[in-house]
Amino acid sequence: MKRNITGFHRDRLGDWVADLDCGHSRHMRHNPPLANRPWLNSETERIRMLGVELDCQTCDDLAAARVPANHPGRRIAEAVRGEALRAAVEAYQHAKMSGLCQEGAWDLALDAIKHLDLDSILDRLPES
Ligand SMILES: [Zn+2]
Repeated sequence: MKRNITGFHRDRLGDWVADLDCGHSRHMRHNPPLANRPWLNSETERIRMLGVELDCQTCDDLAAARVPANHPGRRIAEAVRGEALRAAVEAYQHAKMSGLCQEGAWDLALDAIKHLDLDSILDRLPES
């Protein structure tokens, strides 16, 4: 679902995240050759991107969901998915920068998912 960019912030690892008008967000990384977005490092260019449409995967997921959007487990599921993606991408990029082959980088990315710190994810979720 197309949503407009309303702003940008950095996550706790320093990666840029686009804020969308639906209230969701989307990571915007500049990590060539996987993601080539040199404009992210310029405040002027980020301001120029305000109002531009991006696909919101979370809105797509909610629209297609069999389970109601307010299901009590949805926040946890979304947090785990987000953390798994972050850990896999970070491990993959680190492996490639360290000179590992594609297969080695994938192994490390999968290891990062296998060793996710679930307590840490749950600690960051607001109590409800
Ligand atoms: Zn959304």
